[in-house]
Amino acid sequence: MNYHQYLPVDVVNGPGTRCTLFVSGCEHQCRGCYNKATWPLNSGHPFTDLMQEQIVQDLLDSRIPRRGLSLSGGDPLHPANIDSVKELLQEVVSRAPSKDIWLWTGYTLAELSSKQRDVVDLVDVLIDGKFIQDEADPHLVWRGSANQCVHFLSERARKG
Ligand code: SF4
Repeated sequence: MNYHQYLPVDVVNGPGTRCTLFVSGCEHQCRGCYNKATWPLNSGHPFTDLMQEQIVQDLLDSRIPRRGLSLSGGDPLHPANIDSVKELLQEVVSRAPSKDIWLWTGYTLAELSSKQRDVVDLVDVLIDGKFIQDEADPHLVWRGSANQCVHFLSERARKG
């Protein structure tokens, strides 16, 4: 997998202070996409074991407490990204279990393959669906267009 950008301290993509990873690769080609440069799978930089460890260490860093990890892109559930994203999330769940995981994807929850669902099983909150420009609304929270849905999947996410 490649990634475009890693923000070790981010207060925009999800609630609280977070680590955010923007992966490379997206096949949805939404009109009005805010991040077209991330579409090619080979854009950005290789996502290495070192990078994965850096993310876990940042999540565990008590000097700047992070609430969790956000994954966006690109599409973290692009078939070519699934294995790497799953490995990263398994590592976060096992070593930083108190941190919540938010994931943005252009696929809808209903259309996910079983491999994609395995990844989503590790996620607290999933924001799904393509960005549809005609349904765009700047007042929406955590999503760009009204067709997209914020799914609070885990018990702790549902409790807020
Ligand atoms: S899913 Fe997101 S990154 Fe992919 S084309 Fe749509 S808006 Fe852009």
